[in-house]
Amino acid sequence: MKGHADIAIIGGSGVYDVSLFDNIRQIEVDTPFGKPSDSITVGDFGEKKVCFLPRHGTGHRVSPTNLNSRANIFALKKLGVKQIIAASAVGSLKEDIKPQDIVIPYQIYDRTKIRPSTFFDQDIVVHTGFADPFCSGMSKLLHKIAIANGYNSHPEGTYVCIEGPQFSTRAESNVYRSLGFDIIGMTAIPEAKLAREAEICYSTIATVTDYDVWHEEDVTMETIIANVIKNEKAVRTIIHQALESLDIEQDCECRHALDGAIMTDSEMISYETKYRLKALIGKYSD
Ligand SMILES: [Zn+2]
Repeated sequence: MKGHADIAIIGGSGVYDVSLFDNIRQIEVDTPFGKPSDSITVGDFGEKKVCFLPRHGTGHRVSPTNLNSRANIFALKKLGVKQIIAASAVGSLKEDIKPQDIVIPYQIYDRTKIRPSTFFDQDIVVHTGFADPFCSGMSKLLHKIAIANGYNSHPEGTYVCIEGPQFSTRAESNVYRSLGFDIIGMTAIPEAKLAREAEICYSTIATVTDYDVWHEEDVTMETIIANVIKNEKAVRTIIHQALESLDIEQDCECRHALDGAIMTDSEMISYETKYRLKALIGKYSD
């Protein structure tokens, strides 16, 4: 592995374009949790070092449940990433959040069931704060850019993350609506949790592909794919301008998430664990 990046883009369904970057190189990164979804594309965006990881692998091969999110986030941490912009296709649970709208979610409701969602499951106990799962500074910037470009952007949605790969039932969809949730998707968890554990600022650009099944017309893959393609341009525009505006030097509370969160006495953490998780806890344990 040779490469460095300050900002990462995790592309969701339909966002596989790296034409924004110069000096592109594909690199393979290995982690204690295995291989990421694909090789990582590193490159330059002006003065900034950036990288791109296709969440589901090139050609969309890996289902949300089978994503190795721990390897994905750990690999980005190893490259030095401080900020992640994640793109994600979602369904809408509200009439006024329409297909092709954009939501910059600020809360998550976790309905996943079988995904490893922590780096700290062996030999060490870490309780990381997750009350506000997204980086508020970055999310505000993304919403501002979306609005400035004329997109219909919603700044404060709650994202309910289901296990999938099936879409929800009508009963489930109506329950989520009655609870006041805004959008539904399959990938925010565990990505957001792991980014927090890795002390990386993490925000999502959620693009709406359809009304979930609560709406009169049923969701067809055809409609969803057509909207994914239309949404691609919006995501590219927002990412492009965000890369211009993001200030990697500016500190953020996300980058101190493990401060005071490691419960295990440093002397009781094995050398092996310290070595394995060095990229995450190196600055807290010697
Ligand atoms: Zn942050």
